[in-house]
Amino acid sequence: MRIKLDQFTKSFGEVTVIDQMDLEINDGEMLALLGPSGCGKSTTLFAICGIHQINGGRILFGDKDVTRTTAQTRNVGVVFQNYALYPHMSIFDNIAFPLTVRKESKELIKKEVHAIADLVHIGNLLERKPSQLSGGQQQRVALARALIRRPDVLLLDEPLANLDAKLRLEMRSEIRRIQLETGITAVLVTHDQVEAMSMCDRIAIMDQGKILQVASPTEMYDNPITDFVAGFLGNPP
Ligand code: ADP
Ligand code: MG
Repeated sequence: MRIKLDQFTKSFGEVTVIDQMDLEINDGEMLALLGPSGCGKSTTLFAICGIHQINGGRILFGDKDVTRTTAQTRNVGVVFQNYALYPHMSIFDNIAFPLTVRKESKELIKKEVHAIADLVHIGNLLERKPSQLSGGQQQRVALARALIRRPDVLLLDEPLANLDAKLRLEMRSEIRRIQLETGITAVLVTHDQVEAMSMCDRIAIMDQGKILQVASPTEMYDNPITDFVAGFLGNPP
């Protein structure tokens, strides 16, 4: 699903955090929103998700204007830095939860949970509780739960930040594999340029609520539009 932000503006009280941002995310691509802490990456993701209402501009999913709709009605899957699994529920029930609240049939839930669990390679962990899994496994469960409703877009907010270096490497390629296998449109929020460059088709680099450049990793690395972009990618002038 193609996603379009058209003059998207967001304020908190008197403070405008995002000012008339334009951004298009192509159908089936994985786009990184890359920038330093506090530049407005999560705010942008929350707006796409529908958790935040916006103060100006429009958000389009395909040709549909979803600006005034809520997170419940937009078909989005979200994974946060802290996986926020339900500790008292089994892994099966954690993944099934979005379908259970929709009162889907037991047979359909079982079929869908097993399909998604196989995709993210946790088919053997469904009886366990979250506390019995490693950080990487918990993040796989969070991904499965985000994908269970077959969303139009997958939104990932610093999904690897809580993992140690080895798991972070493993999950980088795993998330990318899952994105490519499903063909889902995805947005990855990160402050880590290596993560953005290694996982994504295109990078939108942000600073202080503005997008400075949108390009493929190699294009941006070879032709950074400003010294800030060059410096942030680790290729200073
Ligand atoms: P990032 O995800 O890039 O680190 P955020 O989108 O979380 O940045 O925040 C962008 C700016 O908006 C920051 O200055 C932050 O302090 C401010 N901000 C974020 N959420 C709120 C909020 N709920 N209320 C007030 N200010 C906020
Ligand atoms: Mg953030």
